[in-house]
Amino acid sequence: MGDFQAWFRTDADCLDYLEWLRWPAGFVCPACGDGGGWRLGDGRFMCSGCGGRTSVTAGTIFDRTRTPLTVWFTACWLFATGKDGISALSLKRTLEIGSYQTAWAMLHRLRSVLVRPGRDRLAGTVEVDETYIGGLEPGLSGGRARGKKILTGIAVEVREPRGFGRCRMRSLADASATSLHAFVTDHVEQGARVVTDGWQGYRGLEKLGYVHDRRSQRAARTRGEDPGKLLPAVHRVASLAKRWLLGTHQGSADSAHLASYLNEFVFRFNRRRSRSRGMVFYRVLELAVAHEPVRYQDLIATRRPRKVPPAPPQARGHPQSLERPPANRPWRSTDVRYSG
Ligand SMILES: [Zn+2]
Repeated sequence: MGDFQAWFRTDADCLDYLEWLRWPAGFVCPACGDGGGWRLGDGRFMCSGCGGRTSVTAGTIFDRTRTPLTVWFTACWLFATGKDGISALSLKRTLEIGSYQTAWAMLHRLRSVLVRPGRDRLAGTVEVDETYIGGLEPGLSGGRARGKKILTGIAVEVREPRGFGRCRMRSLADASATSLHAFVTDHVEQGARVVTDGWQGYRGLEKLGYVHDRRSQRAARTRGEDPGKLLPAVHRVASLAKRWLLGTHQGSADSAHLASYLNEFVFRFNRRRSRSRGMVFYRVLELAVAHEPVRYQDLIATRRPRKVPPAPPQARGHPQSLERPPANRPWRSTDVRYSG
């Protein structure tokens, strides 16, 4: 924290850092790709190729922000270095931000950068299951009781002889074979050993290139074993996620935004052994400066789990990831906004 405060005293310090993250080898024009230019008096850059003017924040999630970068950086620091993150209410109080909506939108913008398109799929032995997350809490009423439970797919790598590796989570339209097969092919490498319960929606995974290990609840019951312990990794991750939603966020994650909270949970879970919290801060900022602007309208629009494509996934390749927001389209030159 001391280092952080010494490094980022002013907005100019933050701009320097973002410049270094975005253009480590020097300014590259986002409009024409030309690698040359100079800095103008107002801190923006002018391209020597096309003459376009741009700033280091243009075309990133910091584009046109009215919040000072020092506040953004502190929010990012608290988001990245806190073991369980931070709620919008705590952020508002800690940074003395005027409105809850501003704090809420900052955290959602940070969440939206966490899912890197084309990230690696899980490998080795992977437990897969689906469960309901979010929604009503018994005994709570009013604002706390809003939303409904969302069917969520969970995949967790199982390490030998014990322990867990990385996990992935995504909202599912239903528990049909179409939805579950798409979830598995999007998140698990072919050739992996996929462990599931006896649900019929998992039938046919062999044909998709997996070694399928089905564990029947009925058989476990017959053997006198607890059927709830057939898939210990996914049950552990599901209970951690539910506890995190109730703890850090006090159950305030509404169903429309549950997917982005789960993205944050997965990001944290997969970095739980990271020794340097500063590296996590660096990583979040690196993703933020590489991510296109996220409009407030897009944050407040109701997001429902999309129906998966009607066609079953192909054995080769995998369908386009459903969790990629439409915003993750290729960069267009019209994305550059000139401020001032
Ligand atoms: Zn240019």
